[in-house]
Amino acid sequence: MGTIAFIGAGPGAADLITVRGARLLAEAEVVLADALIDPALRALAPQAHWIDVGKRGFGRATEQTVIHALLLHHAATGARVVRLKGGDPSVFGRLEEELAAVRAAGHEAVVVPGVTAALAAAADAQQPLTRRGHGRSVALTTAMTREHDLQAGRHADTEVFYMAGKQLPGLARQLAAAGWPATTPVSVVSRAGWPDAIHSQHTLDTLAQASVLHSGRPTVVWIGAGARALPAAPAPAERPQADADKRARSSVLRTLP
Ligand code: SAH
Repeated sequence: MGTIAFIGAGPGAADLITVRGARLLAEAEVVLADALIDPALRALAPQAHWIDVGKRGFGRATEQTVIHALLLHHAATGARVVRLKGGDPSVFGRLEEELAAVRAAGHEAVVVPGVTAALAAAADAQQPLTRRGHGRSVALTTAMTREHDLQAGRHADTEVFYMAGKQLPGLARQLAAAGWPATTPVSVVSRAGWPDAIHSQHTLDTLAQASVLHSGRPTVVWIGAGARALPAAPAPAERPQADADKRARSSVLRTLP
């Protein structure tokens, strides 16, 4: 019986994988990789037979069954198999189904955590998801039900939505209906963790305007205490050198009002 390592690749750039994940990847003989994973991660496992199991390679309906079959097939050969998932495997990663299939077939599994998109987005925007005193809870929520219906509510001081990028106007309407005031801060980051990440800052009543900016890019949206922008840096005149340094580093992250 084989061992399968479920590894979180992190949300973007290859250097956001954990050291443990990178080590196991370097030992892998077979890698089943998700679509959103940085191709640069292949360099960490040059010897491995690399199989892309994202939506590009397989039909949507058969995707999960095919992945299970591939996992079991390769594990049965005794190969060291890595299942490489975007972000963290335990967050909207269908880990429960894959773990169940692997265990039912008698294989051992290990799970290596990764940086989930919400945390990479908070880092890019420099907006801590928890705030002392008034941001005591964070909810990670998928905006889409299994039936692909949009669903959003109010469960925590800071609520983060995955899989909502294509439906920001609808998300805004549902959040308002759930009782979030129109002036509540909302942050949107697409391609978090990548060099071309984009952050935009809104209030609930202007969230719909973010659609065009983030169109076609993986996006997380968060609302509430953790989406409140921190005080701006001092004006350039007061700290010319620091500001010049910052420009020189070329802020790849565009923060728009
Ligand atoms: N397991 C992943 C989530 C997979 S669900 C994780 O832990 O991050 C896919 C959703 O994650 C996307 O629809 C999007 O909402 C979010 N996502 C994934 N990568 C992202 C990124 N780099 N930037 C912003 N959102 C991302």
